[in-house]
Amino acid sequence: MLCFVALTVFSQDKIKVVSSASIFQDMAKNIGGDKITSESIVPIGGDPHTYTPKPSDVELVSSADLILINGLTFEGWITELIENSGTKAKVVLITEGVDPITSQKYHNASDPHAWMDASNGVKYVYNISAGLAAVDPKNALFYADNGAKYNSKIKKAHDYITNQIATIPKEQRILITSHDAFQYYGRAYDITLNAIMGISTESEAQSKDVQRVINAIKESKIPAVFIESTINPKMLQQIASDTGVKIGGELFADSVGDADSEAPTYIKMLTHNTDVIVNALTGTSVESTKIDHDNTSNNFWIYIALGAVMLLSLVFLVLKMNK
Ligand SMILES: [Zn+2]
Repeated sequence: MLCFVALTVFSQDKIKVVSSASIFQDMAKNIGGDKITSESIVPIGGDPHTYTPKPSDVELVSSADLILINGLTFEGWITELIENSGTKAKVVLITEGVDPITSQKYHNASDPHAWMDASNGVKYVYNISAGLAAVDPKNALFYADNGAKYNSKIKKAHDYITNQIATIPKEQRILITSHDAFQYYGRAYDITLNAIMGISTESEAQSKDVQRVINAIKESKIPAVFIESTINPKMLQQIASDTGVKIGGELFADSVGDADSEAPTYIKMLTHNTDVIVNALTGTSVESTKIDHDNTSNNFWIYIALGAVMLLSLVFLVLKMNK
């Protein structure tokens, strides 16, 4: 009993942080450490664009100290949820300071997926640290320090992604996905995007969108397209089989993966996506026989071939002389 009371008091001491989505829940956990509890409204694997809040979410939000939202039309349902809950929590817009990409499809709508560029992730971390410091000023230094440490890891991930994407030959650097979640990623890491659905998954894909993607695959001769962890892969699988390209793998855009997946955290989500993209787009199944003179592995095979020809000539010569 005493133990239970102690535990209750202990957890009440912690700042209760509620995020709209699992990516931000992970960010908050990294900054707040043991001074907070970190929860997400949309569960791992759920689609934050189309989520319908449950009665238990009202309770979760009403008991929060700090609520983290992305904004930029990501979680349109959250304003009503916050209002209905009557919460006293501080609400922080964690995309503050991000340079938003405007949707090409919907006028006056911003693309919400800013976290896909790790340099924006750094800004999210500043905003979350500041939000935590505002609700818990006595631990402000702790949050600032943890935030700085976490940001140095995010910056490392940013450099890793930049270097990895640069290894994909420019003409194959085209990323085809289910929904348009990679515009910030594409802008930051120099990869061209094409998706069946727009920046939200709310509206169904049109047949003209499917045709546009099929044309792009045929024109570019890319070897692979990519499914997403929060979206039904059926349509993309159909396109892949119709065009004879492979599914390059599963990408994580709007949610981190389960604890036992390869993308259980924000940072791992970005680096895992990058590894999947690089592996599939540099795949040997491409019908490209162009020789890149800067490519040492190509040079290696040229030397092997030359060596083999010389050896065969030598054998031929020796045989002829022995006759
Ligand atoms: Zn999305």
